Amino acid sequence: MSQTRPQLAHLTATLNELKERGTYFKLRVLDGEQGPVSIYDGREVINLASNNYLGLCDHPKLKEAALKATEQYGVGSGAVRTIAGTMKIHLELEEKIAAFKNVEACVVFQSGFTANAGTVSSILGKEDFILSDELNHASIIDGARLSRAKIKVFRHKDVAHCEELLKEVQNEPGHKLVITDGVFSMDGDIGPVDKLADLAEKYGAIMMVDDAHASGVLGRNGRGSVDHFHCHGRVDVQVGTLSKAIGALGGYVCGSRDLIEYLYHRARPFLFSTSHPPSVAATCIAAFDLLESEPERIERLWENTRYFKQQLTSAGFDVGGKTTPASETPITPIIIGEGKLTMEFSKALFEAGLLATGIAFPTVPEGKARVRTIVSSEHTKAQLDRALEILTGTAKRMGIL
Ligand code: PMP
Repeated sequence: MSQTRPQLAHLTATLNELKERGTYFKLRVLDGEQGPVSIYDGREVINLASNNYLGLCDHPKLKEAALKATEQYGVGSGAVRTIAGTMKIHLELEEKIAAFKNVEACVVFQSGFTANAGTVSSILGKEDFILSDELNHASIIDGARLSRAKIKVFRHKDVAHCEELLKEVQNEPGHKLVITDGVFSMDGDIGPVDKLADLAEKYGAIMMVDDAHASGVLGRNGRGSVDHFHCHGRVDVQVGTLSKAIGALGGYVCGSRDLIEYLYHRARPFLFSTSHPPSVAATCIAAFDLLESEPERIERLWENTRYFKQQLTSAGFDVGGKTTPASETPITPIIIGEGKLTMEFSKALFEAGLLATGIAFPTVPEGKARVRTIVSSEHTKAQLDRALEILTGTAKRMGIL
């Protein structure tokens, strides 16, 4: 018997609509560790769906760090950072990230989502303007809405369009913020950070980058898009996540000491939500140490990326670059177009032993549904070849290839 009372009938109606459209999903359940091959829903599958770029989710050194910190500091921080929940290990992590990024200071949030939303919403107010790429992450969009700033959306990676919008508002008294993802999560293309930084300088705007998918992937030892584009000192706010390549959980903001102290005082997720358990902070410290000591992981990630993309292209898949942006990173979409077919393709892949997520409207534009693949440094060539076999076999059977 359903416990949904009539007050919530509109939710059931939406779910039914999704079912009709074929885009309703059930959560797949991982049993065991996140790895290149994992067990989901009781089935062993090659895993091309996670953001575990460098295989750190189950790295022995990270596990050891988490266990040690739990022994030493307990399991929880017990309060928000500003009351009684700032532990030495939180500061140690923030100092480590700031040094890694070559900036004055860093603050860690509970997630990349709260880092973006908490920062954008607190550094801008209703007299201000945000100039945002149309494909920026949802957390940036939500932060912009919460800030009540006026939102100007520029066409994807269209620097000239961003400039047009900046010109329109240049004589307005409010602050202007130019913001882009370093790597776009659905298409895997790289944001024009250098060119947008030029514009921000020209028009006196604040420059912000969300490096969720660039941290641990782009730049020297995975320092991110600012390093990749040699833009040190020209990006006021750098956001990153600890939940993808770093293998754990959290988000961070890097910048000047004043920016970080301002966020201590104004960013609502920082002020009103409990800080990380010490085990998470310790895990992340160990992960940053690994980025420095094992750069070969990033090299392997890029080797796998090049190989897999090239094989997908030779097999005849549309991996972006025609009607969608061209991927330049380990995120490689296989563009299918229609939402329902995409979901069926993803399901058939799973049944054949491959986990690759189907993504449809509204996460991506209507007609541009895709199965998104993400290789990691830990996939072997044999696993990638088997994944390609499953992809081509299933696509041929379903009339996609
Ligand atoms: N920004 C981008 C571009 C992302 O893809 C994500 C994760 N989906 C986030 C921010 C949020 O990061 P987190 O998962 O750590 O909250």
